[in-house]
Amino acid sequence: MVTGPDGALSLPWLRPVLDRALAQVRGHSTLVHGPGGVGQFELAIALAQAWLCEAEGPGQRPCGRCAACHLMQARMHPDFHLLLPDALREPLGWGGDAEGGAKEGGEGKKAKPSREVRVEAVRAAIDWSQQTSSRGKGKVVVIHPAQAMNAIAANALLKTLEEPPGSVRLLLCTHDPESLLPTIRSRCQRLAVPRPERAVALAWLEAQGAREADVLYDASGEQPLEAVAMLRVGIDAAAWRRLPASLQRGEASALTPWPLPRAIDALQKLCHDLMAAAVGAPARYFAAADLPPGAALPALAGWQASLRRAARHDEHPWNAPLLVEALVAEGRALWPPARAGTPHRLGTLSSR
Ligand SMILES: [Zn+2]
Repeated sequence: MVTGPDGALSLPWLRPVLDRALAQVRGHSTLVHGPGGVGQFELAIALAQAWLCEAEGPGQRPCGRCAACHLMQARMHPDFHLLLPDALREPLGWGGDAEGGAKEGGEGKKAKPSREVRVEAVRAAIDWSQQTSSRGKGKVVVIHPAQAMNAIAANALLKTLEEPPGSVRLLLCTHDPESLLPTIRSRCQRLAVPRPERAVALAWLEAQGAREADVLYDASGEQPLEAVAMLRVGIDAAAWRRLPASLQRGEASALTPWPLPRAIDALQKLCHDLMAAAVGAPARYFAAADLPPGAALPALAGWQASLRRAARHDEHPWNAPLLVEALVAEGRALWPPARAGTPHRLGTLSSR
């Protein structure tokens, strides 16, 4: 839910951005950009709702109370069209509506949800945008993330960006404007969604149920929506703080319940911070006090390469626990082994 019944935004730091957008966005095509995990998508939805809002007279937009706002909140507004890869529908709460997302594979077999905005979906949106507005407030298309369009899909959109039919407005969201075709970028007005003030983000995270919100916020790379996504899969501040010591002991059990991409992401962040510590730079994702000293730089470089390889293949979950254990075993070797004669645990990989 992007807005409450009073029109208040669920991500409070977006309000000034939305007000600025309502005052300044004049063109048909807008590129909503900013760092990842701060809410470009939510801003685009709120802006679409504000444009379609049917409240009379002065006051905040969206109002959250009119028929159009109710239709947006129910995801049923006839003048709103969302282009989203199938893989993002569930995570963003727009599941169930596979519009424009023809699935590959077929009968009875569940195909892997696509990470692309397909050219067929773009063409369908263009056709849709050429029909008259149902409620008379214009039409809005949101494309998220814009870089999920491949070159063919992006080219299909170009003409519409250049000469948008009638009253349609397009909102393209991205955390990486440079990855888009220059011809797409140049046809859009830019709207920046900045990172919230740290205190604002921490207060919001606490309201979402985060303990030690500052630990979780740093763990997320200062991406508030990412921090909440981590919390939802069981990665809380306490688990995060235990991770460096677990690695040094060669214990993978803390990581194996996490989704594989999350486990690899955590190890990559730990590797980053151990490298930073080894050269005297500040840690970014972990508290410096939680990082065991003495990890050797050459070994860290090798581990980093293994983690990168694993991250490229993190969509193969059948070997997930084994892969995590192998990565942890390699990570454990960053520190000098226990002295001969000292009893030590069997490597977790060899115990399988
Ligand atoms: Zn309204």
